[in-house]
Amino acid sequence: MTTGLEKSNKARLHFDIYAILEGSQELYLGHEVQVNVNMVEIVKLSTRDGQSLEKCYISPTKRRGVERRCLIWAPHKSGELLGDKQKCGIPATCAKTECPICSTFGGLITEKSKARTLIGRVTHGGGVAIQNIDPEEKQRAMHPSRLATPKDGKEKHTPTPFKRQYNQPGILYPVSNHALSITDQDFATVAYAFLDALPRIGSGNPKGVAIAENQENNQPLLVVDRYLVPRGKRPVISPSVTDPQTAVSDFVRLSQIPEHAQENHVELNHFERWIGDTALTKLQDYSSMFVDNILQK
Ligand SMILES: [Zn+2]
Repeated sequence: MTTGLEKSNKARLHFDIYAILEGSQELYLGHEVQVNVNMVEIVKLSTRDGQSLEKCYISPTKRRGVERRCLIWAPHKSGELLGDKQKCGIPATCAKTECPICSTFGGLITEKSKARTLIGRVTHGGGVAIQNIDPEEKQRAMHPSRLATPKDGKEKHTPTPFKRQYNQPGILYPVSNHALSITDQDFATVAYAFLDALPRIGSGNPKGVAIAENQENNQPLLVVDRYLVPRGKRPVISPSVTDPQTAVSDFVRLSQIPEHAQENHVELNHFERWIGDTALTKLQDYSSMFVDNILQK
């Protein structure tokens, strides 16, 4: 069976984004509700030295969902949002190869008469917190779903107290996005979605994460690879690491290409890597390519 993708007249390559994100304030990433407590998603793990830990988590599937929504809600020049213009939403994706959202993130139509699958070529990884800090539980006066004014205006609302957990601010989350066999224009979509999603990660309010900085040189902890052949090491942080300084120095060490240490842009045969500020500029350039060629067209 073929992939269903049309032949591209532009070169297809692989792209990776690696970053360490930092919670700018407390974050609620809903998981389940237990006896009036809204729980956040956590992962259980056993470290290399045998410790059992529970860590906060920005799950790759949640981050992917936020990125896809950013594309669906992106403002098109016509006055429509991109998803409305493409007739592409969640869960009703259009699954057309010419849709910038489905051609990268994938699409699925289950309706029997026009069933169709478009394989997503962007995958998301990481998200396990570095610090071993338990979520904090806070009392809230009323569940947001009960804040709506009743239609007849007569019903009296008694505030229903409930508790909600939050990931604490300042937690670091190493994450990565990988794009398989896509063109530069496709990666423009991926770059736009990645950057645009950062301030919108979280369920409810407040929301938002930032790309953490390396405090030694004020550079963002960010790496972008564009390649046919992988080189060097992938800056992926072990979930066993609980010390933020170790995580940052691991990330910096792994992102250095041997014999090109201290260089922020390395070009080798079939491989290019941008690190720190140059990586951010590269992502922003791709992002504006998406705006010019998709949103402003
Ligand atoms: Zn679509």
